[in-house]
Amino acid sequence: MATRYKAHHGFTLTALLVVIAIISIMAAMILPVLSKARRLAIQTICVSNLKQVYVGGFMHYVDDFGGFISGVKEGPTWPKNRQWDKILYDYYFQKQIRYHNEAYFRNSILWCPERSYNTVKPGAYWNTGYGMQYALPDRGWDPGYYTPTRMNTIRKSSQKGLVSDSWDWHTGWNLFNQFRLDRHVGGGTVLFCDGHSRLFPPGTTSSAYPLLFATALAE
Ligand SMILES: [Zn+2]
Repeated sequence: MATRYKAHHGFTLTALLVVIAIISIMAAMILPVLSKARRLAIQTICVSNLKQVYVGGFMHYVDDFGGFISGVKEGPTWPKNRQWDKILYDYYFQKQIRYHNEAYFRNSILWCPERSYNTVKPGAYWNTGYGMQYALPDRGWDPGYYTPTRMNTIRKSSQKGLVSDSWDWHTGWNLFNQFRLDRHVGGGTVLFCDGHSRLFPPGTTSSAYPLLFATALAE
C-alpha cells in the first residue's frame, strides 16, 4: 500500500526540471522589462537633476556674482577659481572640495544616475557624468574656457545648451563630441540657458539643433 501511495504522489526529477525551466523562461521574459522600466525612471531623475543644478546652483551663483555665470574651468582671477561643478557643489553642500574626488559627488544632483564607467571617456581622470559647455555662445570661443558670461546677454537662451549628459566635465565647444546621446533609454539630457531641461533622443544631430551648443557663434 505504502509503495503505491509514493508512486502516485512523488515529484519526479523530470517534473522538477520542467518547473525550473518554466520559471527560468518567465524570469528571462520579465527581467528585461523591469530593467527598462527602471532605466526609464532613472532618466526622469536625470532631467530633474539638471533642473535643480540650474535653480539651486547657477541661479545662486549668478545672484552672488553680479549677474555672471561661472566659466567651465578654474580661472586666474575670477572668484573661487574653481571648476564649475565644484562651485555648484558648494551651493548645495556648503562644503569645499579641494581635490578631484568623485565620492563627494556620487548620488548628488551633480551625478547622472545612469552614469557608469562605460560612459566615461577613456582616459578621463575624473567625471560626474555632466559637462558644462566650453563656450557660451555670446562670448565666443574662449581658449581658457574660464571666462564668466553675463547671463542676461545670452540670447535665445531656451535653445542653447548649458550643461548636458557628458563623458567628461565639459561638453566641448563643437557640440556633440562629448554629449552622451546614448546614455539613457530615451537619449541624453540637456539643461538649457533658460533653466529648462529635457531629453534629446539618440540620433539627434547638430544640424537639427544648431544652437544647442556653442557653435552658434555666428547666429
Ligand atoms: Zn543622465
